[in-house]
Amino acid sequence: MSLPKDPTKHAAYIQSLHDAKIGGTHPSYLRRVSRICKQCGKEFFVKQSRIDDGRGIFCSRGCFGKWQTENKSGANSHNFGLVRTDATRYLQSKAKLGKKRGL
Ligand SMILES: [Zn+2]
Repeated sequence: MSLPKDPTKHAAYIQSLHDAKIGGTHPSYLRRVSRICKQCGKEFFVKQSRIDDGRGIFCSRGCFGKWQTENKSGANSHNFGLVRTDATRYLQSKAKLGKKRGL
């Protein structure tokens, strides 16, 4: 019935809705703070409570993902150097028993 959404157009549309509301009178938009994305350098708006939480660093999950790829892979990964022991291997295979995979 409907055409598939163009994800870039959809994101731009959602952003335009947000932009229109910034500076508006709705309470949830009144306390938004301007931030610069750590990955792309774009300005975006985030609630103060998210900043207090230590969040609000990236403008989108996409930028967070790119940043992780560049900064948290290989030797920088929190999983780097971890080895699956025989015991772990056994437990993991047991956990998968009876579960359909890829079907
Ligand atoms: Zn960004």
